[in-house]
Amino acid sequence: MRWSYSASRSFRQCQRQWFFKNIAASGRANDPLRRRAFLLSKLQSLSAWRGKVVDDVISTMLVPVLNRRGHITLKGLKERASDLFNRQLEFALAHPINDPNLRVTDEGDEFALFYDMEYGQRPSDIDIAQAWSDVDEALTNLFKMERIRDGLKSASYLVAQRGLQFELMDGVTVLAYPDVIAFAAEGPPLIIDWKVHAFGENDARLQLAIYAIALSRAKRHVDFPDQPASDPSTVALIEAQLLTQSVREHQISEEEIIDAEEYMISSAYEITSLTEGKPFKDLSAKDFQAAQYAESCQRCSFRTICWESLHAN
Ligand code: SF4
Repeated sequence: MRWSYSASRSFRQCQRQWFFKNIAASGRANDPLRRRAFLLSKLQSLSAWRGKVVDDVISTMLVPVLNRRGHITLKGLKERASDLFNRQLEFALAHPINDPNLRVTDEGDEFALFYDMEYGQRPSDIDIAQAWSDVDEALTNLFKMERIRDGLKSASYLVAQRGLQFELMDGVTVLAYPDVIAFAAEGPPLIIDWKVHAFGENDARLQLAIYAIALSRAKRHVDFPDQPASDPSTVALIEAQLLTQSVREHQISEEEIIDAEEYMISSAYEITSLTEGKPFKDLSAKDFQAAQYAESCQRCSFRTICWESLHAN
Protein backbone atom coordinates (compact mmCIF):
# COMPACT_ATOMS: atom_id res chain seq x y z
CA MET A 1 0.00 0.00 0.00
CA ARG A 2 1.10 3.54 -0.73
CA TRP A 3 0.70 6.01 2.12
CA SER A 4 0.75 9.77 1.75
CA TYR A 5 -0.13 12.66 4.03
CA SER A 6 -3.12 13.64 1.87
CA ALA A 7 -4.37 10.01 1.80
CA SER A 8 -4.15 9.87 5.60
CA ARG A 9 -6.26 13.01 5.90
CA SER A 10 -8.77 11.67 3.39
CA PHE A 11 -9.02 8.37 5.34
CA ARG A 12 -9.70 10.20 8.61
CA GLN A 13 -12.30 12.40 6.97
CA CYS A 14 -14.10 9.58 5.17
CA GLN A 15 -12.86 6.00 4.79
CA ARG A 16 -15.10 5.47 1.77
CA GLN A 17 -13.64 8.48 -0.02
CA TRP A 18 -10.18 7.05 0.63
CA PHE A 19 -11.32 3.71 -0.87
CA PHE A 20 -12.58 5.36 -4.07
CA LYS A 21 -9.43 7.39 -4.52
CA ASN A 22 -6.76 4.92 -3.46
CA ILE A 23 -8.17 1.48 -4.23
CA ALA A 24 -11.01 1.81 -6.74
CA ALA A 25 -9.66 4.55 -9.04
CA SER A 26 -7.81 3.13 -12.03
CA GLY A 27 -7.30 4.67 -15.45
CA ARG A 28 -6.30 1.31 -16.96
CA ALA A 29 -8.98 -1.00 -15.58
CA ASN A 30 -11.88 -2.08 -17.82
CA ASP A 31 -14.34 -1.89 -14.94
CA PRO A 32 -16.51 1.24 -15.59
CA LEU A 33 -16.75 2.00 -11.84
CA ARG A 34 -12.96 2.08 -11.55
CA ARG A 35 -12.59 4.31 -14.60
CA ARG A 36 -15.32 6.62 -13.30
CA ALA A 37 -13.61 6.78 -9.89
CA PHE A 38 -10.33 7.62 -11.64
CA LEU A 39 -11.84 10.52 -13.60
CA LEU A 40 -13.77 11.80 -10.57
CA SER A 41 -10.51 11.78 -8.60
CA LYS A 42 -9.22 14.40 -11.08
CA LEU A 43 -11.97 16.95 -10.31
CA GLN A 44 -10.63 20.19 -8.87
CA SER A 45 -12.24 23.25 -7.38
CA LEU A 46 -11.53 26.46 -9.28
CA SER A 47 -9.40 27.62 -6.39
CA ALA A 48 -7.29 24.42 -6.25
CA TRP A 49 -6.88 24.53 -10.04
CA ARG A 50 -5.51 28.10 -10.13
CA GLY A 51 -3.00 27.09 -7.44
CA LYS A 52 -1.96 24.14 -9.58
CA VAL A 53 -1.45 26.38 -12.62
CA VAL A 54 0.99 28.47 -10.55
CA ASP A 55 2.71 25.36 -9.25
CA ASP A 56 3.03 23.84 -12.75
CA VAL A 57 4.51 26.99 -14.24
CA ILE A 58 7.08 27.18 -11.44
CA SER A 59 7.94 23.48 -11.85
CA THR A 60 8.08 23.29 -15.63
CA MET A 61 9.45 26.71 -16.53
CA LEU A 62 11.07 28.58 -13.65
CA VAL A 63 12.93 25.67 -12.05
CA PRO A 64 14.55 24.35 -15.28
CA VAL A 65 15.70 27.88 -16.23
CA LEU A 66 17.23 28.45 -12.79
CA ASN A 67 19.02 25.09 -13.01
CA ARG A 68 20.57 26.19 -16.32
CA ARG A 69 21.56 29.50 -14.68
CA GLY A 70 19.45 31.14 -17.37
CA HIS A 71 17.36 34.27 -17.15
CA ILE A 72 13.60 34.45 -17.01
CA THR A 73 11.34 37.48 -16.86
CA LEU A 74 8.11 37.80 -14.95
CA LYS A 75 6.44 38.64 -18.27
CA GLY A 76 7.67 35.37 -19.79
CA LEU A 77 6.43 33.37 -16.81
CA LYS A 78 3.02 35.03 -16.94
CA GLU A 79 2.71 34.37 -20.68
CA ARG A 80 3.33 30.69 -20.07
CA ALA A 81 0.83 30.72 -17.19
CA SER A 82 -1.77 32.49 -19.32
CA ASP A 83 -1.36 29.94 -22.12
CA LEU A 84 -1.73 27.01 -19.70
CA PHE A 85 -4.63 28.68 -17.88
CA ASN A 86 -6.58 29.27 -21.12
CA ARG A 87 -5.98 25.83 -22.60
CA GLN A 88 -6.93 24.03 -19.39
CA LEU A 89 -9.93 26.30 -18.91
CA GLU A 90 -11.25 25.47 -22.38
CA PHE A 91 -10.79 21.76 -21.75
CA ALA A 92 -12.40 21.89 -18.30
CA LEU A 93 -15.41 23.90 -19.51
CA ALA A 94 -16.07 21.30 -22.24
CA HIS A 95 -16.16 18.76 -19.35
CA PRO A 96 -15.59 15.60 -21.42
CA ILE A 97 -15.72 13.32 -18.35
CA ASN A 98 -18.32 11.05 -19.98
CA ASP A 99 -16.46 10.69 -23.26
CA PRO A 100 -15.55 6.98 -23.51
CA ASN A 101 -12.47 7.88 -25.57
CA LEU A 102 -11.06 10.27 -22.98
CA ARG A 103 -7.55 9.19 -21.97
CA VAL A 104 -5.85 11.46 -19.45
CA THR A 105 -2.37 10.63 -20.71
CA ASP A 106 -3.32 11.60 -24.28
CA GLU A 107 -4.43 15.08 -23.27
CA GLY A 108 -1.03 16.32 -22.08
CA ASP A 109 -0.93 19.48 -20.01
CA GLU A 110 -4.36 20.65 -21.26
CA PHE A 111 -6.16 18.18 -19.05
CA ALA A 112 -8.25 19.66 -16.23
CA LEU A 113 -11.67 18.83 -14.81
CA PHE A 114 -13.71 21.14 -12.59
CA TYR A 115 -15.71 19.94 -9.61
CA ASP A 116 -18.37 22.55 -10.31
CA MET A 117 -18.95 21.28 -13.86
CA GLU A 118 -19.85 17.88 -12.42
CA TYR A 119 -21.78 18.85 -9.33
CA GLY A 120 -22.61 22.52 -9.60
CA GLN A 121 -22.69 25.11 -12.32
CA ARG A 122 -20.28 26.41 -14.90
CA PRO A 123 -17.99 28.86 -13.07
CA SER A 124 -19.06 32.45 -13.73
CA ASP A 125 -16.96 34.82 -15.84
CA ILE A 126 -16.33 36.81 -12.65
CA ASP A 127 -14.97 33.70 -10.85
CA ILE A 128 -12.76 32.86 -13.83
CA ALA A 129 -11.45 36.44 -14.03
CA GLN A 130 -10.70 36.31 -10.29
CA ALA A 131 -8.85 32.98 -10.72
CA TRP A 132 -6.62 34.52 -13.41
CA SER A 133 -6.07 37.64 -11.30
CA ASP A 134 -4.91 35.36 -8.43
CA VAL A 135 -2.48 33.51 -10.72
CA ASP A 136 -1.11 36.83 -11.98
CA GLU A 137 -0.74 38.18 -8.45
CA ALA A 138 0.88 35.00 -7.12
CA LEU A 139 3.56 35.13 -9.82
CA THR A 140 4.14 38.86 -9.30
CA ASN A 141 4.54 38.25 -5.57
CA LEU A 142 6.89 35.34 -6.15
CA PHE A 143 9.37 37.72 -7.81
CA LYS A 144 9.10 40.11 -4.84
CA MET A 145 9.62 37.57 -2.05
CA GLU A 146 13.27 38.01 -1.17
CA ARG A 147 13.66 34.94 1.03
CA ILE A 148 12.20 32.71 -1.69
CA ARG A 149 14.22 34.36 -4.46
CA ASP A 150 17.42 33.90 -2.47
CA GLY A 151 16.57 30.28 -1.62
CA LEU A 152 15.96 29.43 -5.27
CA LYS A 153 18.85 31.39 -6.76
CA SER A 154 21.48 30.24 -4.28
CA ALA A 155 20.62 26.55 -4.71
CA SER A 156 23.18 24.36 -6.42
CA TYR A 157 20.33 22.27 -7.86
CA LEU A 158 16.53 22.50 -7.79
CA VAL A 159 14.02 19.70 -8.06
CA ALA A 160 10.28 20.27 -8.45
CA GLN A 161 7.39 17.88 -7.83
CA ARG A 162 9.59 14.79 -7.58
CA GLY A 163 8.21 11.74 -5.80
CA LEU A 164 10.12 10.64 -2.69
CA GLN A 165 9.45 7.05 -1.63
CA PHE A 166 10.52 4.97 1.32
CA GLU A 167 9.33 1.87 3.12
CA LEU A 168 7.57 2.76 6.35
CA MET A 169 6.67 -0.75 7.48
CA ASP A 170 5.96 -4.13 5.94
CA GLY A 171 3.84 -3.59 2.83
CA VAL A 172 3.56 0.19 3.29
CA THR A 173 5.48 2.68 1.17
CA VAL A 174 5.38 6.40 1.92
CA LEU A 175 5.07 8.68 -1.09
CA ALA A 176 5.71 12.44 -0.78
CA TYR A 177 5.81 15.16 -3.44
CA PRO A 178 7.43 18.36 -2.10
CA ASP A 179 6.76 21.35 -4.37
CA VAL A 180 10.45 22.31 -4.57
CA ILE A 181 13.65 20.91 -3.08
CA ALA A 182 16.56 23.36 -3.23
CA PHE A 183 19.86 21.54 -2.70
CA ALA A 184 22.71 23.67 -1.40
CA ALA A 185 26.38 23.25 -2.38
CA GLU A 186 27.10 23.04 1.34
CA GLY A 187 24.71 22.47 4.18
CA PRO A 188 21.24 20.98 4.37
CA PRO A 189 18.63 21.31 1.62
CA LEU A 190 15.55 23.54 1.66
CA ILE A 191 12.00 22.35 0.96
CA ILE A 192 9.43 24.92 -0.21
CA ASP A 193 5.68 24.36 -0.16
CA TRP A 194 3.64 26.84 -2.23
CA LYS A 195 0.27 27.98 -0.98
CA VAL A 196 -2.05 29.98 -3.20
CA HIS A 197 -4.88 31.09 -0.97
CA ALA A 198 -5.58 34.41 0.65
CA PHE A 199 -6.05 33.14 4.19
CA GLY A 200 -2.84 31.66 5.44
CA GLU A 201 -4.11 30.15 8.65
CA ASN A 202 -3.33 26.52 7.77
CA ASP A 203 -0.08 25.42 9.30
CA ALA A 204 1.65 22.89 7.07
CA ARG A 205 4.10 21.89 9.82
CA LEU A 206 3.25 18.17 9.98
CA GLN A 207 3.22 17.83 6.20
CA LEU A 208 6.61 19.55 5.93
CA ALA A 209 8.06 17.35 8.69
CA ILE A 210 6.94 14.30 6.66
CA TYR A 211 8.64 15.75 3.56
CA ALA A 212 11.86 16.20 5.54
CA ILE A 213 11.71 12.60 6.76
CA ALA A 214 11.00 11.41 3.21
CA LEU A 215 14.01 13.34 1.88
CA SER A 216 16.29 11.75 4.46
CA ARG A 217 14.99 8.19 3.95
CA ALA A 218 13.88 8.02 0.31
CA LYS A 219 15.68 6.15 -2.40
CA ARG A 220 17.99 8.73 -3.97
CA HIS A 221 17.14 9.85 -7.52
CA VAL A 222 20.15 9.70 -9.86
CA ASP A 223 20.41 13.48 -10.16
CA PHE A 224 20.28 14.12 -6.40
CA PRO A 225 23.45 15.10 -4.55
CA ASP A 226 25.14 12.18 -2.75
CA GLN A 227 23.75 12.81 0.69
CA PRO A 228 20.56 14.90 0.37
CA ALA A 229 19.85 15.02 4.13
CA SER A 230 20.75 12.43 6.72
CA ASP A 231 19.00 14.21 9.58
CA PRO A 232 15.45 15.46 8.82
CA SER A 233 15.58 18.02 11.65
CA THR A 234 18.31 19.91 9.78
CA VAL A 235 16.24 20.35 6.58
CA ALA A 236 15.10 23.95 6.12
CA LEU A 237 11.33 24.09 5.58
CA ILE A 238 9.38 27.00 4.14
CA GLU A 239 5.69 27.52 3.59
CA ALA A 240 5.28 30.33 1.05
CA GLN A 241 1.88 32.02 0.74
CA LEU A 242 2.05 33.51 -2.73
CA LEU A 243 -1.10 35.62 -2.43
CA THR A 244 -0.11 37.29 0.82
CA GLN A 245 3.70 37.23 0.40
CA SER A 246 3.89 35.55 3.78
CA VAL A 247 6.84 33.23 4.39
CA ARG A 248 6.75 30.82 7.31
CA GLU A 249 10.01 29.12 8.13
CA HIS A 250 9.67 25.93 10.15
CA GLN A 251 12.38 24.51 12.32
CA ILE A 252 11.29 20.99 13.18
CA SER A 253 12.65 19.57 16.43
CA GLU A 254 13.73 15.97 16.90
CA GLU A 255 10.63 15.40 19.04
CA GLU A 256 8.40 16.63 16.23
CA ILE A 257 10.18 14.26 13.84
CA ILE A 258 9.34 11.40 16.22
CA ASP A 259 5.72 12.64 16.43
CA ALA A 260 5.50 12.78 12.62
CA GLU A 261 6.88 9.21 12.38
CA GLU A 262 4.31 8.06 14.92
CA TYR A 263 1.55 9.81 12.97
CA MET A 264 2.57 7.98 9.76
CA ILE A 265 2.77 4.60 11.49
CA SER A 266 -0.54 4.94 13.36
CA SER A 267 -2.34 6.12 10.21
CA ALA A 268 -0.82 3.35 8.05
CA TYR A 269 -1.71 0.79 10.73
CA GLU A 270 -5.30 2.06 10.88
CA ILE A 271 -5.64 1.71 7.09
CA THR A 272 -3.97 -1.70 6.77
CA SER A 273 -6.03 -3.10 9.68
CA LEU A 274 -9.14 -2.34 7.66
CA THR A 275 -7.98 -3.40 4.20
CA GLU A 276 -5.66 -6.26 5.23
CA GLY A 277 -3.78 -5.73 1.96
CA LYS A 278 -6.75 -6.99 -0.09
CA PRO A 279 -7.06 -5.90 -3.74
CA PHE A 280 -10.06 -4.04 -5.19
CA LYS A 281 -11.91 -7.23 -6.19
CA ASP A 282 -12.06 -8.38 -2.56
CA LEU A 283 -13.26 -5.05 -1.19
CA SER A 284 -16.45 -3.02 -1.48
CA ALA A 285 -17.38 0.59 -0.69
CA LYS A 286 -19.63 -0.78 2.05
CA ASP A 287 -16.60 -2.11 3.94
CA PHE A 288 -15.61 1.52 4.61
CA GLN A 289 -17.24 4.00 6.95
CA ALA A 290 -19.01 6.98 5.41
CA ALA A 291 -18.11 10.53 6.41
CA GLN A 292 -19.11 11.59 9.87
CA TYR A 293 -20.06 15.10 8.80
CA ALA A 294 -22.45 15.91 5.94
CA GLU A 295 -20.24 18.86 4.92
CA SER A 296 -17.56 16.38 3.82
CA CYS A 297 -20.02 14.93 1.28
CA GLN A 298 -20.81 18.41 -0.07
CA ARG A 299 -17.20 18.77 -1.20
CA CYS A 300 -16.60 15.14 -2.20
CA SER A 301 -15.68 14.27 -5.79
CA PHE A 302 -17.04 10.72 -5.46
CA ARG A 303 -20.58 11.66 -4.42
CA THR A 304 -22.30 10.06 -7.44
CA ILE A 305 -20.58 6.69 -7.26
CA CYS A 306 -20.80 6.65 -3.47
CA TRP A 307 -24.55 7.11 -3.49
CA GLU A 308 -25.00 4.69 -6.40
CA SER A 309 -22.96 2.04 -4.59
CA LEU A 310 -25.05 2.44 -1.44
CA HIS A 311 -28.30 2.09 -3.33
CA ALA A 312 -27.12 -0.89 -5.37
CA ASN A 313 -28.62 -4.21 -4.26
S1 SF4 B 1 -20.08 11.23 -0.58
FE1 SF4 B 1 -19.65 11.43 1.62
S2 SF4 B 1 -19.71 9.33 2.41
FE2 SF4 B 1 -19.50 9.19 0.18
S3 SF4 B 1 -17.31 9.03 -0.21
FE3 SF4 B 1 -17.85 11.18 -0.32
S4 SF4 B 1 -17.50 12.02 1.72
FE4 SF4 B 1 -17.60 9.82 1.90
